[in-house]
Amino acid sequence: MTTQAATGQSTDYFKPTEPLAMVVGPTRPAPSVLKRMSEPAPPLTDPGFIAEFGRCLARLRRLIGASAADVAVVPGTGTSGMESIVVSLLRPGVPVLVASTGMWGDRWRDICLRLGIPAHAPRFPVGRAPDLRLLETLFSRHRYQALLVAHVDSSSGVRADLPGLAGLAHEHGALCLVDGVSAIGAEEIQLDAWDLDAYLGGPPKGLAGPPGLALHGLGRRAQEVLRNRDWTPGAYSLDLASWLPVMAAMEREEFGYCQSPAGNLVLGLSEALRLALAEGREGRVARHAALRDTLHAGLDSLGIDLLVPEPSERANGITVGVVPRDLDERRFMAAVAEQGVLLQPGTYRSMGDRTFRIGHLGTVTEADITRTISAIGVGLSTSRRAS
Ligand SMILES: *Cc1c(COP(=O)(O)O)cnc(C)c1O
Repeated sequence: MTTQAATGQSTDYFKPTEPLAMVVGPTRPAPSVLKRMSEPAPPLTDPGFIAEFGRCLARLRRLIGASAADVAVVPGTGTSGMESIVVSLLRPGVPVLVASTGMWGDRWRDICLRLGIPAHAPRFPVGRAPDLRLLETLFSRHRYQALLVAHVDSSSGVRADLPGLAGLAHEHGALCLVDGVSAIGAEEIQLDAWDLDAYLGGPPKGLAGPPGLALHGLGRRAQEVLRNRDWTPGAYSLDLASWLPVMAAMEREEFGYCQSPAGNLVLGLSEALRLALAEGREGRVARHAALRDTLHAGLDSLGIDLLVPEPSERANGITVGVVPRDLDERRFMAAVAEQGVLLQPGTYRSMGDRTFRIGHLGTVTEADITRTISAIGVGLSTSRRAS
C-alpha cells in the first residue's frame, strides 16, 4: 500500500501527530480536507458551491453503492442523523426490533422510545453479532415495522451481517435501518445490492472528514414511506422529506432551500469523499482490514484478548480490547499515553471499565499500527510494575 494511494497526498502527510490519537473519532483529516474546511462558507446560491454540493452527493452515492437511492448530506451529529431516520420513517405507536450489539443499538432503542415507538432490543452474547435465528423467532411472533442495527458498533467492535439482516426484515415486511457512522469509509457498503432501506454515515470516523454532518442513503421502501406518509412527524428540522427535494436540486446543479446547509463542512466532506474514491472502494476496505489484522496479531502476541471472539465479526476500523485482569484500566491507558499513543476508554455496557478502544480508521497507516502495538507493550509492563 503506497502512501499516495492511501490519501492522494504527498508523504508529508505521514508525519506522525503528537500524541498519536488512535481514536474512533474525530480521526486525522488529510491536509486538503482541512484546507477546504478553513474556507469561508460560500453563499448558498453560489453556483460553484451548488456544483460542489452536487459532486459531494454523487461521491457519497458511489461510495455506498446507491445509484437508485436518494442521498442527503445534512447538518447534525450522528445521533441527530439517527433521530432523523426514526422521525422521518417510523410511525409512532408501532413496535420496532433493535438488533443491539452495544451502546449504539441501545441508542436506537432510546430514540425510538422517546418518540413514542415501542422498541424491543434483545441482548446477544457479549461481543457477538446479531443472531439471525433469534431475530427470526421474534419476527415470527410479533409484528415490527422496522429492524434497526449498527453496521459497526463502536462500543463492542462488532460488525453486523447487513445482507442477512435486511433479507430477514423484508421477509417480515419490516424496514432495515442501519447506523453506519463508524463503518463508512472502512467497511464494504452496498446499499442497492443489499437492499438496505436507510443507511446513515458520518464524516469524522472512517472518512476522516469534518464532524457536524449526517449522511443519508434511502432505498426505495424508505422513499415510498416518505411519499405516502399519513402521519405528521414529531420534529420539523429533522424531517428528511423536506431535505430530499433540496438534495435533488443540488444534484441537478440548481439552488434549493429548506434550511441552511453547513457550507464549509460540505466542502471538507466532498474532498474526503474524493480521496476515499481515489483510493478505491475495495482498496480502502482492504487497507483497513489488513491494518486491523496486523494490530490484532500484535495484541495477541502481547496476551490481550479482544471483546469480539469471532474473527469474521470483527470490524475493520475499531478494536475493543479487554484489560488484563491484573491491571487497572486507567493506569494502563495512562501508561500507553505516556508512550505518546492515545487510546479510548471502554463504553460497552457493564464492561466499560474492563475494556479499552482503539480506532484505526480513516488515514491510519502501518506506521501508526506499529507504534500503537509497541506503546501498548511498554504500557503493559510499566503499569504492571506500578501495580
Ligand atoms: C460515533 C457514532 C455515532 C454518532 O455519534 P455522534 O457523537 O452523535 O456524532 C453513531 N453511531 C455509531 C456507531 C458511532 O460510532
